[in-house]
Amino acid sequence: MLYRPLGSTGLQISVIGFGASPLGNEFGSIEPADAERSVHAAIDCGINLFDVAPYYGRTLAETRLGSALVSKRNKVVLATKCGRYDKDSFDFSQQRVITSVDESLRRLQTDYLDLLTAHDIEFGDREQILSETLPAMRKLQRQGKVRFIGVSGLPLRMLADVARRGDLDYVLSYCHYNMLSRDLDQVLRPVTQARNIGLLNASPLYMGALTESGPPEWHPAATAVRQAAAQVVSLCRARRVNPSVLALRFCIDYPYAASTLVGMSHPRQVEQNVSALQFQLDTNLLEEVDRIVAPVRDATWPSGCPENSDV
Ligand code: NAD
Repeated sequence: MLYRPLGSTGLQISVIGFGASPLGNEFGSIEPADAERSVHAAIDCGINLFDVAPYYGRTLAETRLGSALVSKRNKVVLATKCGRYDKDSFDFSQQRVITSVDESLRRLQTDYLDLLTAHDIEFGDREQILSETLPAMRKLQRQGKVRFIGVSGLPLRMLADVARRGDLDYVLSYCHYNMLSRDLDQVLRPVTQARNIGLLNASPLYMGALTESGPPEWHPAATAVRQAAAQVVSLCRARRVNPSVLALRFCIDYPYAASTLVGMSHPRQVEQNVSALQFQLDTNLLEEVDRIVAPVRDATWPSGCPENSDV
């Protein structure tokens, strides 16, 4: 495994991070035993970053991750979130941040979080995030319940604005740096780099679209984007390359993201994804992928309050 520093936190995190949303059955029902075995396999491979949220499986992912981490807590950098609780349930108030963290600590069977992320901030009020949510999270840091704080969301412009104006340690972006999109590098990276704020890049497989099984039913991308992703998967099949390994390796090679968070729920996926570190990138294949993707490059979808959304 390779490790990179997360901004100025002093943490060294694995370049592949374990995304735990599939542990909440977000991509289909999974066997609880597979969840536990994947977490243990990931730790054995040197993955130390585990990212979860109360929202994933409406607390199920936290509960499963917490039980898998019993007696292994000190081996990992544990990240969870606050502010999002259901598809349409958000609360970024100071009071809810405080109770949310206590609830997460119980489910995760620990007494501190390494990272606390305000989840999908585009659904909140931008000024509240800056003047109430982040200060409440810093307060929890002073109390020792949380080590570092950050924000996550889809619209890059809002993330960049909050990173510029807010007091935070890292930003988690998803679906903006991968084989289908690279606009994270133009919009958000200059700000995080200038301020030495950590950058986490999530969803390298474009939330399942760059896998043999294809995207889940709820996937928000436009039809043309899903079709381009399906063509990339077919091309990989023809070249006898695992599309997920190619897509993950592409993201790992982006040096500005400290870690790429990939969702995993089976030990076989852990093994395949870790193999991406040894995978030899074929530049001809990447050029073919680029040609397929060109018409839909950097496409995104509306997310959050209209004033915060990029489209
Ligand atoms: P992803 O791009 O990582 O894709 C996950 C899907 O790919 C799952 O169905 C998984 O089973 C499958 N998969 C993984 N490895 C595979 C392999 N080798 N072969 C075949 N299929 C494979 O999308 P994601 O899970 O949404 O993103 C990763 C993580 O990033 C999440 O779990 C979460 O922790 C984090 N995230 C956070 C936010 C946010 O804060 N707003 C948003 C998106 C993702």
